Amino acid sequence: MRAGQHVLIENTYGNQVTDLWALAAADVFETSSLDHTRSVNSNIFFANGMTLMSSRRRPMLTMVADSGAVRHDTLLCPCSRELYRELGCAEDHRSCSDNFHEALSTLDLALPFTPASLNLFMNVPVAPDGSVDRLPPATVAGDTVVLRAEMDLVLVLSACPQDVTPINGTARTPRDIAVRLHDTNPAEVTS
Ligand SMILES: [Zn+2]
Repeated sequence: MRAGQHVLIENTYGNQVTDLWALAAADVFETSSLDHTRSVNSNIFFANGMTLMSSRRRPMLTMVADSGAVRHDTLLCPCSRELYRELGCAEDHRSCSDNFHEALSTLDLALPFTPASLNLFMNVPVAPDGSVDRLPPATVAGDTVVLRAEMDLVLVLSACPQDVTPINGTARTPRDIAVRLHDTNPAEVTS
């Protein structure tokens, strides 16, 4: 994405968690950082109007529209082959971490680690005692979010393939998302 461009992410079927990362185009070692994001926004959730920050405390993406007006998770790690091994799945079970690295490889990019992901549509309420729950998404089919790029960046998205827990809906059936790039905020154009 170039700075100023918008990405619209549609939760086509309503049930789908989408892991998101951004890498600075100028230096992919400057990654989206949920630590910095929580600190700058003074919030453990991500919501409309908030900005995803980089590991160098620079703005990367600002959420400018959210039709579902839900709170997106910033706390839990992306799923990985180690997690699916723990859950008793086959060794070749897809994971958001593998999706991230495979997506980078298509651009001849690589990182030797997996940054924390912004977990769009992921419904992880936090209780007063600090414990977290993992609930099906509170979104409905067709819900969209729009994010504006604040710098030139590489955007990586993974439709989470978790099919053991109900994090992608009680049917435990991961589904596609739809992604479109726009030069202006599509939510403003259509409203
Ligand atoms: Zn996942």
